[in-house]
Amino acid sequence: MDFNSLLDKHELDVLFVSSPHNVRYLSGFVEGKDAKVVITRAGATLITDGRYIIEAAQQRFPHRILLKRTEMNRLLSEFFTGRVGIEAEHLSVAVLEGFKRDFPNLEFVSTSGIFEKLRQRKTSEEITHIRRAAALADQGFEHILPYIKPGVREIEVALELEFFLRKNGSEGLAFGTTVASGERSARPHGGASERKIQSGDLVTLDFGCVVGGYCSDMTRTVAVGKVSAELGALYQAVLEAQTLALEAVRPGVKGQELDSLARNHLENRGYGPYFTHGLGHGVGLFIHEGPSLGQTSEDTLEASNVVTIEPGVYIPNLGGCRIEDLVLVTENGHEVLSKSPKHLIEL
Ligand code: ZN
Ligand code: ZN
Repeated sequence: MDFNSLLDKHELDVLFVSSPHNVRYLSGFVEGKDAKVVITRAGATLITDGRYIIEAAQQRFPHRILLKRTEMNRLLSEFFTGRVGIEAEHLSVAVLEGFKRDFPNLEFVSTSGIFEKLRQRKTSEEITHIRRAAALADQGFEHILPYIKPGVREIEVALELEFFLRKNGSEGLAFGTTVASGERSARPHGGASERKIQSGDLVTLDFGCVVGGYCSDMTRTVAVGKVSAELGALYQAVLEAQTLALEAVRPGVKGQELDSLARNHLENRGYGPYFTHGLGHGVGLFIHEGPSLGQTSEDTLEASNVVTIEPGVYIPNLGGCRIEDLVLVTENGHEVLSKSPKHLIEL
């Protein structure tokens, strides 16, 4: 990365990077929450503490070890000069006040989204990690289907799924697993409860793996036994909306247009008021990153973006359904990274 032109572009002398995902993105240091990166005209330096002496020596650029947390500003005084950019969406007010107190002659400038924008276009190495995370999620879905049956609690299904994913290489969970059955499937982010799955339920599973620091994200909704005609129709409408939006993914298409494709279809089927969130989001080191796909989005898709396409319909006291795929935007169109089947599976 050309740090000098980055500083020029933002009219800065120094950029202090504190967001854990951006620290990892820049340096390769896994525990981004326990490190900072300070970028000056002389290059970038990683700052971490004595717990990470071995890891710090293996990163992309020079490092400094902080012996005491209270010495941070003294160490930074070697780097800070002139106009110092901070990540306004991450740095706490307390730290900024400390900077202003200890460096009264410097100017602290809020920046927003510098690396988040760069992170939207994935490198082939990043895509390899995401592809592996998506493939592991597909294995997890296949593994979990026999566990979903009447009388089993949602949390047991969630735990078995998480156990499988961790045992097979996921470094953690991309986010809290959702297993939402019956009426609870009307909650888009329902988590997993003590509720016992019943025959006639729709069950929504939303889960993700982490490989090489990169997340995957997939949702499938399955039926336990025969579901009512009402729930069956709801499922088909969501699947059609998801397919319409998915097939339109290519470079140059706006996030808002994709959202409209799915939303208009659901509106025509009478489900408009029940699609209560945006169509999708970017995925990478962080589970929710840019570009965003929704009615308020101003983002346009570019090749090497990785996004989700996840329309859903949620009807209180009845149930709901979401179908979510992880998709890579390619030069000519797209490649769906989630390979799990999407027809209504009756267990
Ligand atoms: Zn999801
Ligand atoms: Zn998602």
